[in-house]
Amino acid sequence: MRFSKLTPRPNCAMLIITMEKDKEHNLRAEYERLNWEFSLLYEISNAMRTTLKLDQVLYIILTALTSHEGLGFNRAMLFLVNEKEGVLEGVMGIGPHTAEEAGKIWHAISQRKMTLDDFIASYDTFKKDPESKLNSIVKGVKIPLREDMGILALTILEGMAFEITTQEAKKMVDHHIQKTLNTDFFVTVPLKTKDKVLGAILVDNVFNKKPITKSDVNMLTMFATHAGLAIENSRLYEETEYLTNIDWMTKLWNCGKFQKDLSLELAKSKLTDTNVSLVMIDVDNFKNYNDTFGHLKGDEVLKQIANILQSKSRKFDIVARYGGEEFVIIMPHTPKENARLFAERLRNEVEGLYAEENNLPSDKCLTISSGIATYPEDANTKDELITAADMALYEAKRAGKNRSCLYSKAMGIERKDL
Ligand code: GH3
Ligand code: MG
Ligand code: MG
Repeated sequence: MRFSKLTPRPNCAMLIITMEKDKEHNLRAEYERLNWEFSLLYEISNAMRTTLKLDQVLYIILTALTSHEGLGFNRAMLFLVNEKEGVLEGVMGIGPHTAEEAGKIWHAISQRKMTLDDFIASYDTFKKDPESKLNSIVKGVKIPLREDMGILALTILEGMAFEITTQEAKKMVDHHIQKTLNTDFFVTVPLKTKDKVLGAILVDNVFNKKPITKSDVNMLTMFATHAGLAIENSRLYEETEYLTNIDWMTKLWNCGKFQKDLSLELAKSKLTDTNVSLVMIDVDNFKNYNDTFGHLKGDEVLKQIANILQSKSRKFDIVARYGGEEFVIIMPHTPKENARLFAERLRNEVEGLYAEENNLPSDKCLTISSGIATYPEDANTKDELITAADMALYEAKRAGKNRSCLYSKAMGIERKDL
């Protein structure tokens, strides 16, 4: 066989081999990328299933988007639709706020060799971090859901992703949100469930300026589907949990939730060696009020009193309806005297509220009485603490109502030796 000079067959064969090799190399790279994407999605979906607490689910979503082992964006922000108000609200943002902060964080991460699991496990640290500036900026964002309100609103209204990755696309962006979030090029994707758009995610690479590619956007869109379902699940769970624990009339916690929370608070205070006070409250002469004004008016009074108890309590106090016209307040980290002062404030408030209607003999006035007991000085267990507060309440009634009484040893509950 003879090869002509014009037809360099061996070179052509080599070219074909090289092309085949390139093709194979590209296919292998594509296969590896897809493999990585699927296993990452699998890992993230598993992580999202480890909790039903909405806040934690949101944290896992944003961590997966920003950690280097995950999708590796510089920053990720999450917004949820508030249907009642017709607005999109910022709920969480993860990532540095300045290039300097970014440098520090990434240096620390590479030093500690943190994995995706490590990031997810650091949720508690994130929650307690008062300096997470991006998070507080995102939380302040509120965008009316109208077409003229910019890209984030459009992401929800159109239910589609927006890629702001070119100068041309950037012209569409409203300056206000760009300035607030200090973002440049970015991508938004909707968080969808079967039949509605729950919110949106915004990611960017504002610090390392790495271009956001088509495959990043594809991955992000797939990821958002999982994230949307995880958010929907945890919302349903939290709603069910709320319905199980709430007293419908007063919107306070119910007795079951009170019992669970008291056990928890006592366990915590055992560990930290702190006090827990329990205030038990009963409305005075309530039967008379019902008999005089009717049950509907009586219901209104219970709601008003519940409102006072809730609004006068601290964030970490637990206010519950114990039953009928009785209420309980768990006061963690509170010595007995402070709990008494608090109970007196409540008593004054209720007395003031019904002062006009209370131009009646004192055995008909609408006031409240309280009994107060404190762990560990008055009781060793949950049941003992409830009994002690109940005895103190009984004493307040016996002594003439409209007063707050402290439990004292003379009332004599039986205490278990622990
Ligand atoms: P005391 O001052 O000793 O506490 O007397 P009281 O009349 O408040 O207490 P009593 O236990 O005799 O009556 C409690 C009343 O509370 C009787 C009950 O009908 C009423 N009550 C319980 N739950 C509700 C409720 O959900 N709505 C209304 N309107 N009344 C309720
Ligand atoms: Mg009662
Ligand atoms: Mg009563």
